[in-house]
Amino acid sequence: MSACQSCGACCAHFRVDFSAFELQSEGGSVPDALAVVVNDSTCRMRGTDHMPARCSALTGRIGEKVACGIYEWRSSPCQEFEEGSEACHRARLRHGLTALAD
Ligand code: SF4
Ligand code: SF4
Repeated sequence: MSACQSCGACCAHFRVDFSAFELQSEGGSVPDALAVVVNDSTCRMRGTDHMPARCSALTGRIGEKVACGIYEWRSSPCQEFEEGSEACHRARLRHGLTALAD
């Protein structure tokens, strides 16, 4: 099982911006209702520029059990985010979780 399923820290730490072409209404996969428009070319996952940040698609409790409600339809930055990366460590530490072992 991936550590991500008992984490979710990155989904509640970073601002998640992606190309407007990834919206369902533009022929992509991300449900429009879960995104906010930033400008003509960029959208943002709803909730990720609030303080504290938390993506609206995230369900469950950080550090216990979480899921992405749109996992198969998530945007490319979500797909590309690497478990165990420096950014992953930062998000985990921010939520009081230890960095993953290499
Ligand atoms: S912070 Fe790292 S371990 Fe946690 S959900 Fe994101 S990628 Fe997975
Ligand atoms: S869309 Fe899913 S993977 Fe991306 S930030 Fe939101 S909950 Fe995390």
